Amino acid sequence: MEKTGCLIIGGGPAGYTSAIYTSRAGLTPVLYEGMEPGGQLTTTTIVENYPGFAAGVDANELMASMRSQAERFGADIRHGIVTAVDLSSRPFKVTVDDSHEIEAEALIIATGATARYLGLPSEQKFRGMGVSACATCDGFFYRKKDVAVVGGGDSACEEATYLAGMCKKVYMIVRRDVFRASKAMQDRVFSTPNIEVLWNCNTQEVLGDDSGVTGVRLQNNKDGRVFDIKVDGFFLGIGHHPNSELFSKWIKTDDKGYIITEEGTSATNVEGVFAAGDVQDPRYRQAITAAASGCRAALDVEKFLLAHRG
Ligand code: NDP
Repeated sequence: MEKTGCLIIGGGPAGYTSAIYTSRAGLTPVLYEGMEPGGQLTTTTIVENYPGFAAGVDANELMASMRSQAERFGADIRHGIVTAVDLSSRPFKVTVDDSHEIEAEALIIATGATARYLGLPSEQKFRGMGVSACATCDGFFYRKKDVAVVGGGDSACEEATYLAGMCKKVYMIVRRDVFRASKAMQDRVFSTPNIEVLWNCNTQEVLGDDSGVTGVRLQNNKDGRVFDIKVDGFFLGIGHHPNSELFSKWIKTDDKGYIITEEGTSATNVEGVFAAGDVQDPRYRQAITAAASGCRAALDVEKFLLAHRG
């Protein structure tokens, strides 16, 4: 069986940064990128708030650059999806693509988080045909058209104001009569004239035909009224869920599935297993905070291996 000192699962800012640090420390890490090489950031376009890029940077370029930076120091970055893990004892056993097995003395989980969907069959049916969880990726297709955004948090408000800049009209579908979003984000929504907030509304069905989404059927949960709105795009902004299921038999998570790390470190409850990035961060979820936590995990692994290898 193949053996490695440090195995990193996840190819986003957290995974790549931990690969940069561990490879530079001579640990020759192996990193599996998973289903979305480059991570969630690759679903966006320009990143304007990553320090060091005064004019902004293309998200894909930023991720490709992090990847090659790690490879420059000897990180072994591979395509492949981790399909099973056994963390019951060290070395940890990891199965990739249901076939390849690899043993690791230390593990960094950097599997990120995934956008949540409502779970309606019609939403599934029109995914990629008008249903999207990424306004910055797909908003372009709805220029001068009407769209809807579901959710009332910061993500939904950010998506709605972004879409309002290019679409004719943006409906926000909010299930309560208040936003969850911060005051600043709410103010941005309220001061954008082509956003209409539909309070106390639940989505019953995404409507469409062969050409894709044509509307949404809503129900007002106060008076029970059912009504349709005409839209060409339906955007989800109802949060994300952490990709931690694979590890849940061994690794402690909070009630939402975010991996719990020991305060001030990247250590999980299993000695030798560390977590970095959005899979352990319900709060900040930024590329820079993910990268920073990848650095912390790498330094923790270095220290751990030093202590355990003698
Ligand atoms: P949140 O969990 O904050 O908000 C989710 C929103 O979706 C809530 O309004 C929630 O309603 C609604 N919702 C959840 N499930 C459903 C459902 N099934 N049907 C209808 N509505 C639903 O997630 P966000 O992604 O918005 O934010 C996550 C974190 O990231 C927050 O801490 C946020 O502050 C941060 N963030 C910060 C940004 C920034 O500062 N620029 C940008 C984006 C995110 P309800 O309120 O009723 O529960």
